[in-house]
Amino acid sequence: MLRLVDVALPVPLFRTFSYAIPPEMPTVLPGTRVVVPLRGRREVGIVVAERVEATPEREYKPVLAFPDESPAVTPALFATLEWIGTHYAASFGSALRAALPVLLTSAAAPNPGEKRERIAIITRALDSLMERDALFKRAKRQRDVYQLLEALNGQAPVRTLVEQLKVSEGVVAGLADRGLIRISQRAVLRDPFAGRPSGPSPVHDPTVAQQGVIDAVSSTPGSVTLLHGVTGSGKTLVYLEILRRVLADPSASAIVLVPEIALTPQTVGRFRSVFGDQVAVLHSALSDGERLDAWRVLHRGERRIAVGARSAVFAPLRNVRAIIVDEEHEATYKQNESPRYHARDVAIVRARHEGAVVVLGSATPSLESWVHAREGRYQLQSLPDRVGGGVLPVVQLVDVRGPRRVQGGEAPGERVAAPPQTPRVLDPFRRVISEPLERALEECVAREEQAILLLNRRGYASFLQCVACGDVAACPNCSISLTYHRTPERLTCHYCAHHEVPRTTCGRCGAEKVRERGLGTQQVERLLGDRMPKLRIARMDLDTTTGKWAHADILDRVARREVDVLLGTQMIAKGLDFANVTLVGVVDADVGMNLPDFRAAERTFQLLAQVAGRAGRGVKGGRVIVQTRMAEHHAIQCALTHDFIAFAEHELADRTSPPYPPTIRLANVVVSGLDEAEVASASQGVTDWIKRLVQARGIEGLRVTGPAPCAIDRIKQRWRWHLLLKTGDARMLTKVLLYLAQRYKLPDRAGLRLTIDRDPATLL
Ligand code: ADP
Ligand code: ZN
Repeated sequence: MLRLVDVALPVPLFRTFSYAIPPEMPTVLPGTRVVVPLRGRREVGIVVAERVEATPEREYKPVLAFPDESPAVTPALFATLEWIGTHYAASFGSALRAALPVLLTSAAAPNPGEKRERIAIITRALDSLMERDALFKRAKRQRDVYQLLEALNGQAPVRTLVEQLKVSEGVVAGLADRGLIRISQRAVLRDPFAGRPSGPSPVHDPTVAQQGVIDAVSSTPGSVTLLHGVTGSGKTLVYLEILRRVLADPSASAIVLVPEIALTPQTVGRFRSVFGDQVAVLHSALSDGERLDAWRVLHRGERRIAVGARSAVFAPLRNVRAIIVDEEHEATYKQNESPRYHARDVAIVRARHEGAVVVLGSATPSLESWVHAREGRYQLQSLPDRVGGGVLPVVQLVDVRGPRRVQGGEAPGERVAAPPQTPRVLDPFRRVISEPLERALEECVAREEQAILLLNRRGYASFLQCVACGDVAACPNCSISLTYHRTPERLTCHYCAHHEVPRTTCGRCGAEKVRERGLGTQQVERLLGDRMPKLRIARMDLDTTTGKWAHADILDRVARREVDVLLGTQMIAKGLDFANVTLVGVVDADVGMNLPDFRAAERTFQLLAQVAGRAGRGVKGGRVIVQTRMAEHHAIQCALTHDFIAFAEHELADRTSPPYPPTIRLANVVVSGLDEAEVASASQGVTDWIKRLVQARGIEGLRVTGPAPCAIDRIKQRWRWHLLLKTGDARMLTKVLLYLAQRYKLPDRAGLRLTIDRDPATLL
């Protein structure tokens, strides 16, 4: 009789591998890591199951090492990873890789040591002043160290003492030699948040409306709740109170997902200030070591709230009782490499295995969640009003087509007669900032209040175009125009790392005149600075936020009122809560509207509603000015009236023909490769294969469209074609995709690659 374990390995294969274990070994639980040989290498794998073979069918290699004391992956998480593999047609190995810190996947060192530090601890209290004076008479530096230790409650890392007092380690050692302190070792959590301020603790009691939501969620175990609460309705307090109730049980734990840690320092700060050192923050900018430390404190149960972006849904917690998904509509919850999971959907599956409640919060829910709630699969809870009687800001549209027209402005949605037409001006500033917006800015600053200006495009200009022949400078690796940046002056591709120094002449016809087209944040910053030199502008976009704390530092300056105007891309639209911001201006609402993507209108509405929600959060009220050329579009009209439901109903109707999610289930199958003709014919091959499968199996209700080139048909030198699978039958789609992933082999040439993206966030 032979004892075996089936092991999932981090390889892109849809199978497990079997290895022998010693007869005397205690039971090996699923989720335990093992080190095993694979094709002459050592790999870390995860045990899926243990079994015996009475008469071994063949020879099995033995497991080389068992680095875990307790399984790295809990049963509920394990089941969740299996679901990911099936639902997204991804291998279990890739799901595992997404769930474990990289440092736990190295076969050479499966248990990297913890960082340790020396700490000094007072062992003899000195109550008598006389004794103290006598002891330290000729040891002034020792006295300083001793007193600092006293001030720090009797213990502190040696390094802290040495750095703060600028003494040598010998001074500390001297105190130990005299028996006044002892020095010992302890594991340190490399926690980059330790030194950051955590923000004020909320001292509020929930309002009646908030309390209603808290009760409804807490009293329905295992429920999924969509919390549709307008901006400023106090969703964060609801989350905090739900967690407080759940965590009253000392063995319980919870997960909080936010779209991006760096963009939500205020939200994260509130969790830290209420729950203190029970919180581990999983920041995407953590080093591998910091990430491992955070994983370990959660795994050991030393901290029981994980706050983080999408991968925090895999936090190694036991007995998870609540999962909060803040801003559940955000596209950042979708991972765009294998496994292409959506953290919101994974959260719901994990919660089902844990028996936890889920709260999906948003002012602008995804249409997917909205339909689930409307049809009763989720509990729908609403917070239709701002806390404390605050009102949503008045939104005013400025139609920047030709002569300016102003719409709205008295109360949300109310239209006013267009003011007298202003003569058409060619002033470059005026082309960017309309008169009403300029006036509003001036008034806002004159009242010593602050403004937020949104333009969802970074760089200086979207592209450079030759005046003579119309040629546009494009990326040599991608089919996309290069964005023009100043300081430093560069043409940059936003899809690959390519950048070049712009030429003064046209690359095609040699003409001497090249024009900047399309507006970016750098240009707005400059035009604004020239026009209103006293204005203190902070720009926040990918180019100004490369450091780990760059976002937080800019936002701190806004909070300290050292900034009049916070100008930026979609980064500034979420989660910010500044009472002194009374004006929000949208420089160009149409930036994302014409993208060839079925979610373009939804994204635009969400962005406008979210950024509008930054205005008027304090007692001073606020207003929003939106510049657009598409004033009639429902995404703009519904943002004008803060009417999510009207938007959702209009948009859902638009998604019935041609059908798009959530009306149907969608998978985007992309074939990419280095040669255009090979990619085109390979994508035809995949399409034919699927169509034959549909026929042979008598599959009904699966629509295959394509193949066709992707909207961006070349990225990083790879050509891209795709086909879409649409159906109302989710389970059938799962089967077809798994079958495709496991059975279909692309020709092994020209770097051909098949990518299956189920429930895609974008089709670009
Ligand atoms: P949302 O996330 O829904 O946009 P927040 O949770 O940021 O809203 O809350 C908006 C503001 O209202 C915050 O400044 C918050 O401190 C305040 N607030 C929330 N709940 C209460 C309450 N019950 N009483 C007083 N102020 C509250
Ligand atoms: Zn490129």
